[in-house]
Amino acid sequence: MLPRKPLLAALALTLLGGTAQAADEVVVYSSRIDELIKPVFDAYTASTGVKIKFITDKEAPLMQRIKAEGDNGVADLLLTVDAGNLWQAEQMGILQPIKSDLIDQNIPPQYRASSHEWTGLSLRARTIIYSTERVKPEELSTYEALADKQWEGRLCLRTAKKVYNQSLTATLIETHGEAKTDQIVKGWVNNLSTDVFSDDNAVIQAIEAGQCDVGVVNTYYYGRMHKQNPQLPVKIFWPNQGDRGVHVNLSGIGLTKHAPHPEAAKKLVEWMTGEEAQKLFADINQEFPANPKVKPSDEVAAWGSFKADSIPVEIAGKRQAEAIRLMDRAGWN
Ligand code: FE
Repeated sequence: MLPRKPLLAALALTLLGGTAQAADEVVVYSSRIDELIKPVFDAYTASTGVKIKFITDKEAPLMQRIKAEGDNGVADLLLTVDAGNLWQAEQMGILQPIKSDLIDQNIPPQYRASSHEWTGLSLRARTIIYSTERVKPEELSTYEALADKQWEGRLCLRTAKKVYNQSLTATLIETHGEAKTDQIVKGWVNNLSTDVFSDDNAVIQAIEAGQCDVGVVNTYYYGRMHKQNPQLPVKIFWPNQGDRGVHVNLSGIGLTKHAPHPEAAKKLVEWMTGEEAQKLFADINQEFPANPKVKPSDEVAAWGSFKADSIPVEIAGKRQAEAIRLMDRAGWN
């Protein structure tokens, strides 16, 4: 005779165990460097027991993959940078809203999608940098003023193909309208000392090397380079302090439309907007916490405080197509 009851009990336990395990897991598709997120996910797993699987790739293939997987999707969350990219994901219909009072309390509304389909997690300023050898900070004022004759042959920029510059331009269009932004961007292109660069690091290096005197980069690239070389003859300048403030963008996260573990994913996102995770997540990449209750690291705080543009960052997405056309017309490669 087979011991029927114990076997069934064992089977039931296995099934229950299996179910519980499936729920205690979150799958993240991430376009961030592994080292920037692994410690954060490890901390969550250590305190909750919830496993996090993450797959790393560039944002475009990840978004395509979520779309192609459709309702057989395995990803719960999409983690990427720039409101322009998150807005693209929203337009592709691959996200769904997260309704959470906690997230709404933790993250200011300008750093979240009005649709609630994504929220910012960390902030970075895209700001002016200058050569401490050839520029006095008093000569600098605004992004717009980098179009002035004074900077002719002295400006370095990254390519217009990068979403960071598209987002900056999109916010300029929102602020000034198309005609004035057109003039500003043409002025920048006219002032370039050399061809555009493929990344922000190269812009900083070009200023260091004397190829140009001013540039526009994300703060964490400067932070990394300054950490390697504290004598770096390049400094950060906070523009537009007399008007709208510095252009701030973010890294953020959204819940996928067909998330297999939506509740577990929501809990993870809520935790990521809280104090413990915000500190970890922002400090690793020398970014600013998106939760204003959390202080930046000493390294980041040393750059000085500044007024940030309060424009909702989703404008970067809404005006992205216009921005790309305008940059193209202006000859920004
Ligand atoms: Fe970056």
